[in-house]
Amino acid sequence: MPSSAQLRSTLNRLDNASYKAYKDIKGSYDFEDFTLIIDHVQGDPFAAPSKFRVKVPQSLANFPPKLFTSPSREIALRDFLTRQFDEAAKTLSSRRGTGKSGLIAMAKLGQEVLDRTATFLNDKEIEVRFVVGLPARGRRILGRQAAELICEDIPEIVDRTLFYDSLNPKKIRQQVETVEDADYIRSQLPERGLVAFVANGAILPRRSGVDDRPLKDNAIPFQSPPSLEVEFDCPNQGKITGMGIPQGITLIVGGGYHGKSTLLRAIEVGVYNHLPNDGREFVVTDPHAVKIRAEDGRSIAGVNISPFINQLPQNRSTQQFSTPNASGSTSQAANIMEALEVEAKVLLVDEDTAATNFMIRDHRMQQLIQKEKEPITPFIDKIRQLYDGHGVSTLLVMGGSGDYFDVADTVIAMDNFCPYEVTQQAKKIAEEHATYRETEGGEEFGEITPRIPVADSIDPSRGKRSVKLQVRDVDEVAFGTEDIDLSSVEQIVNVGQLRAIATALVYAKDRHMGKQRTIPEIIDRVLADIEKNGLDIITDYPQGDLAVFRRFELAAALNRLRSLEVE
Ligand code: ADP
Ligand code: MG
Repeated sequence: MPSSAQLRSTLNRLDNASYKAYKDIKGSYDFEDFTLIIDHVQGDPFAAPSKFRVKVPQSLANFPPKLFTSPSREIALRDFLTRQFDEAAKTLSSRRGTGKSGLIAMAKLGQEVLDRTATFLNDKEIEVRFVVGLPARGRRILGRQAAELICEDIPEIVDRTLFYDSLNPKKIRQQVETVEDADYIRSQLPERGLVAFVANGAILPRRSGVDDRPLKDNAIPFQSPPSLEVEFDCPNQGKITGMGIPQGITLIVGGGYHGKSTLLRAIEVGVYNHLPNDGREFVVTDPHAVKIRAEDGRSIAGVNISPFINQLPQNRSTQQFSTPNASGSTSQAANIMEALEVEAKVLLVDEDTAATNFMIRDHRMQQLIQKEKEPITPFIDKIRQLYDGHGVSTLLVMGGSGDYFDVADTVIAMDNFCPYEVTQQAKKIAEEHATYRETEGGEEFGEITPRIPVADSIDPSRGKRSVKLQVRDVDEVAFGTEDIDLSSVEQIVNVGQLRAIATALVYAKDRHMGKQRTIPEIIDRVLADIEKNGLDIITDYPQGDLAVFRRFELAAALNRLRSLEVE
């Protein structure tokens, strides 16, 4: 393996050569304390930056094995190292010429601790993946700047961040222990009969709509109502107390601006772990919880929405319902049926983003518009059947209609950002003030019908390229010639997840579609491959910018592909 000194002299020699000559530096280099691997060299200074890796042997890095013995700890430590490396890279990354020249960058990071491809580690070595903008002026190589960047700055970053002795051991411990405790609580939820847990002291509000860090001033810490308080005996922190949200049907009520949506949002993202001091590090949710909302305008491909929608005008089928432009209510029905198709166990609904006519149909409206004239069976008339027949719980923010008191198991009122349990009062009111509604949902929930996708309807090609994917933040991905709009899929929290989802769709098509396999069967297979081999299995070469995603969000992307057809 050539040495770093040899790489430096190559770079000096390339000074002023045409940019293409950078291709020569692809390969592995011995930097004494670590190995540098250049996997891919960009074609010009404006192209996607070059892909680099470093590998540091554990014999030098010296991370105590107890920091990565359990899967929870390993993910937490990898996340920690990614953040350290990213921070150091940001301080040393600088503009060194044209385009992306001088850039040193990693995966985009938020408040969640995710399983990413940026950093790996085991008892032999640590591997970190990042990108570098190889310096140029115009299309001429800036060799000396490149030598400085690669042979001085990168070793400096590695030195600061990938050796145990140069890091803060307390902070590392705090991160691995926090994540391990949160995972422990999550693993205990089913046997405790809970769908979510919100620890006392948790800080739920965020700084702003575009800043996901905890609100700094005047945030009121969460405090469970005594009747819902539960306690977990966690492996590291010991006892953690807070509010347990039981399985079944739970309403969150309360006046406007009293913190209902903030609580629900924290629970939505509680399917992921969060950094220590995020405020939500012990807000923990069943991993099968899916946010449901209305999403008018989305396309729907052959979904059986008949539990909710029947007898549409013009006799359109609702057992295999397709449309390029769904209404609020049909989109919400499809979102629920698609979530159930891939085995959601908890539905999270906020009235702010739900279709009113999907949620309720009150006594007076039942009098005015006969059932035969209303295709929609409102959610209120299916919510119980969904739990009794399929074990699917619902957590619903509903400040605007008391009709749900009849079907709720638990009612939580938010008052000045504090939760109170008001189930008894709500039940009493329901008894004293009948709604006079006719229930319209029947005995059974109805059929959940898994669909078989047509592989050819999923086409990632564009122009000469057989696969062209381009991710724009967490909201949108260009998939071949089509843009998939994921702005209403609120549990995608990181751009790396969406990149992985788009890549996994191509992988799913190539490897697992066909043979009459249904969407849940295909997704099971993709996830089993990733579980066994890691995310690298879905890409051709090592990529540092992917993050693990859930089955629900992979399905969501497929379902929003407008070209999707099912058999
Ligand atoms: P609702 O859904 O009940 O109308 P929101 O959850 O949207 O209310 O909260 C209203 C505002 O209060 C938001 O700006 C939110 O950030 C803030 N907020 C929510 N919870 C807290 C809290 N515990 N402490 C301080 N501010 C909060
Ligand atoms: Mg709200």
